Amino acid sequence: MKTLSLRQLGQCRRCPRLVAFYATIAQRYPSYHAAPVPIWGDPSAHILIVGLAPGLHGAARTGRAFVGDSSGALLFEGLHALQLASSPDANEAHLLNVQITNAVKCLPPQNRPVANEINTCSSYLEREIKAMQRRSKGRPKAIICLGSVAYTAVQKLFRKVPQRFATFTHGANTLIKEDLLILGSYHPSRLNVNTGRMNLGMLQQVLGQAKAFVQGELGDGNHTQ
Ligand code: SF4
Repeated sequence: MKTLSLRQLGQCRRCPRLVAFYATIAQRYPSYHAAPVPIWGDPSAHILIVGLAPGLHGAARTGRAFVGDSSGALLFEGLHALQLASSPDANEAHLLNVQITNAVKCLPPQNRPVANEINTCSSYLEREIKAMQRRSKGRPKAIICLGSVAYTAVQKLFRKVPQRFATFTHGANTLIKEDLLILGSYHPSRLNVNTGRMNLGMLQQVLGQAKAFVQGELGDGNHTQ
């Protein structure tokens, strides 16, 4: 089955397990979006945030990545504190110099996409990243990967670059061609927050690093190259 354009993403049926799962979700929750969730945000953004996949009562319900669930609530609190969103309420916020997407555009059972689904969907992520690189040519830009799955998916797209990627951890960073900073962050999931692995301050630290980089305020001494 061929890859569709980003505009046609809503019609993608390349992962049979996820298509079937959405069919059950649409039956159980008729008002839910229950379809591939596209990238959204500021079309001229220099910061791209990449999550794992839509959450059942978040993006799979609202149709917007990180809108409608607790992960999004924490993310938007952090974005708003750094003037990267117009409101801490994801339902009404405009993103400022930020776009948000997921490595996998469809809701996976138990929030766990299988390797084949991550690889299949990566063609869309690749186009989203290329679009940002095209419009930001010569200007600093940053990708923030929320969680190890998103980090690995992004890392695979840059497998041909000579740089050694930093091992995933919170705050891991790799500089590509001196103008693209790739950052790792723990995912702001309810589980990570409840277990103390992730908190607002940690999230703001990574968001702040991305913002400083795209504004040209970071030196290049802190990165893996
Ligand atoms: S996960 Fe991605 S590739 Fe798979 S069906 Fe959804 S949009 Fe298509």
